[in-house]
Amino acid sequence: KRNVLIIGAGGVAHVAAHKCAQNNISLGDIHVASRTLGKCKAIVDSIREKGSQRGSGLLKAHQLDALDVEATKALIRSTGSQIVINVGSPFLNMSVMTACIETGAAYLDTAIHEDPDQVCEPPPWYANHEWKRRDACRAAGATAILGVGFDPGVVNAYGRFAMDAYFDEVESIDIIDINAGSHGRYFATNFDPEINFREFTSNVWSWEGGQWKSSRMFEHRKDWDLPVVGRSTAYLTGHDELHSMSKNLGVPNIRFWMGFGDHYINVFTVLNSLGLLSEKPVRTAEGLEVVPLKLVKAVLPDPASLAPTYIGKTCIGDLVKGTKNCRPREVLVYNVCDHKDCYEEVGSQAISYTAGVPVVAAAMLIANGVWDVRQMVNVEELDPKPFISLMNRMGLVTRVRDEQGDRVLDPYKESP
Ligand code: NDP
Repeated sequence: KRNVLIIGAGGVAHVAAHKCAQNNISLGDIHVASRTLGKCKAIVDSIREKGSQRGSGLLKAHQLDALDVEATKALIRSTGSQIVINVGSPFLNMSVMTACIETGAAYLDTAIHEDPDQVCEPPPWYANHEWKRRDACRAAGATAILGVGFDPGVVNAYGRFAMDAYFDEVESIDIIDINAGSHGRYFATNFDPEINFREFTSNVWSWEGGQWKSSRMFEHRKDWDLPVVGRSTAYLTGHDELHSMSKNLGVPNIRFWMGFGDHYINVFTVLNSLGLLSEKPVRTAEGLEVVPLKLVKAVLPDPASLAPTYIGKTCIGDLVKGTKNCRPREVLVYNVCDHKDCYEEVGSQAISYTAGVPVVAAAMLIANGVWDVRQMVNVEELDPKPFISLMNRMGLVTRVRDEQGDRVLDPYKESP
């Protein structure tokens, strides 16, 4: 019994808490901590309402400012937590990681650290933050698995698995993220608007020909033929996973493509052109100081509130191209997730679900020792087989499409 502390009480934390509760026979007590106690209590209540908890461990809500390292260490100790799932805002990563290193708890997150006032950082982004603590992690013997949501996270494991199982040499990995669902609102983001917009307001980094290439958002678009969601337009976007996969996999071309509808692009372009997505404060004629991005966030729907009416599916995967036995080959490793099914199971939409399930699968692999590596790693540095196999049983089923057709991926059957 390891006991788990979940930090954050947003959409991803909601799913992570439900999934921990479903698996608390191996994970032990589950604690949820965030700035707003009421949000943590609401998660605990929803677990009770859904009857998600399988074992008899504690399920408890806590108030915590996770930027306060000493308070976070005290909570880790008082709850006896050996695993910390950080699914709070990415501004918290370095403080929570420090608390973990200093208490010896395992650390998991689903996004790269961000500083609130820095938008355009040089690549690789991990080197600006998390990787600086690699030696400290190793010295403390603390396990830290970075970016283990869906993207980053599962797509890193897909890239690694495809390389190992299907290719002698890989030329390119195109990660494609399509949300073909509809929430029925005029405009909303699927996760924290502040974080969502920050992804698109700076320049777009991609890994091309073994080096970083910069372009503008919405500069490059491409149509992809995908299972279930069909022909989909996606735009070259900068994203976390490129910043570790480029270093760890030795693949010359790694790109990230995200699907956007014309309506999203129009609204985004208007907001951005007016300066309403800026994180720099402005002063009104009345002397009020306002951060435009924070104001936009305040008037947009709370992403968690989209879940009850969300319909349709997401399709996220890696299209990998290379050679096997001197012949060109193309393989798509992917997952399809249904918004409504997620809502029925845990009360969330698919974007939160696809991020929350993997981080709990990783926690379970730490708890059973398989991924308890006692150092800092990105997901593609770990054996992807137990991870993919476990997620197949936890509600996120991986499929593969190649020249032999389209099938559920059993990683132990398909790897050499
Ligand atoms: P939300 O914005 O819904 O939730 C963030 C939570 O962080 C809130 O509950 C907030 O608490 C909490 N928080 C912020 N500051 C503090 C603090 N100082 N101390 C304690 N808690 C704090 O985000 P999501 O649930 O949508 O996303 C969570 C994480 O997952 C983000 O890092 C996001 O980038 C990442 N993500 C990753 C994906 C992937 O596939 N890899 C996909 C989607 C998201 P409160 O409300 O109480 O103030």
